[in-house]
Amino acid sequence: MASIEMRNIVKQYGDGFPAVNDVSLDIADGEFMILVGPSGCGKSTLLRMIVGLEDITGGDMVIGGNRVNDKAPRDRNLSMVFQNYALYPHMSVFENIAFPLRLSKTPDDEVRRRVTEAADVLELQEHLDRKPANLSGGQRQRVAMGRAIVRQAEAFLFDEPLSNLDAKLRGQMRTEISRLQRRLGITTVYVTHDQTEAMTLGDRVCVLRKGVIQQVASPRELYDQ
Ligand code: ADP
Ligand code: ADP
Repeated sequence: MASIEMRNIVKQYGDGFPAVNDVSLDIADGEFMILVGPSGCGKSTLLRMIVGLEDITGGDMVIGGNRVNDKAPRDRNLSMVFQNYALYPHMSVFENIAFPLRLSKTPDDEVRRRVTEAADVLELQEHLDRKPANLSGGQRQRVAMGRAIVRQAEAFLFDEPLSNLDAKLRGQMRTEISRLQRRLGITTVYVTHDQTEAMTLGDRVCVLRKGVIQQVASPRELYDQ
């Protein structure tokens, strides 16, 4: 687990207005931070700079006390959970979860141990032999999180993971993500434009507008305004 500190982060695409403009934000070890704001406010860009998928124009990105501006995504040990989960359709749930361990040539017995542990936490024990196509949306989401868990990633990063789901499933997944995050106590940054998610999921909410932080507050403080 790791803290994430952003110091005066700027992102400029081409010569337009900066997509992210002097953002400073400290996310504590184990904290669940929501980034919320209208489309185009810079949420995804910020998330992509944390994970290393986007170059940083200015400022410092510090993860677990180390400046990571020049570090490749694989050296940051963060785990991004995408909207479409990026699961491999031809692989079983077991192999989908094991994938990062296979890449790092982890011995088979350790792979089995870590995947089984993750499947216990995620209640996927019964489904390890299935293919993603035979899972519900919620189960697929859990497989994607399983991949992050086996890697013992420093943090989870979510980019609007629920926006393709119907309202009922979205509600269930909200509860599930929140429960899992608390159980694992892993630092989490979660991007959404959905007010309900913003007000129910996290420890704190960072409101962005036109690339600038408008406010950082707990859901309670926002609610009382
Ligand atoms: P959000 O996630 O809040 O919808 P984005 O981070 O995707 O916002 O976008 C912030 C701004 O940066 C928008 O004006 C968007 O058009 C622009 N932008 C995002 N990605 C790129 C890119 N690859 N090239 C140029 N402009 C981009
Ligand atoms: P979302 O709505 O999920 O934030 P977008 O449709 O804004 O996604 O962006 C999808 C992809 O297009 C992203 O990789 C983003 O970086 C890129 N993108 C967004 N705006 C621009 C832009 N103005 N020019 C080039 N690429 C962009």
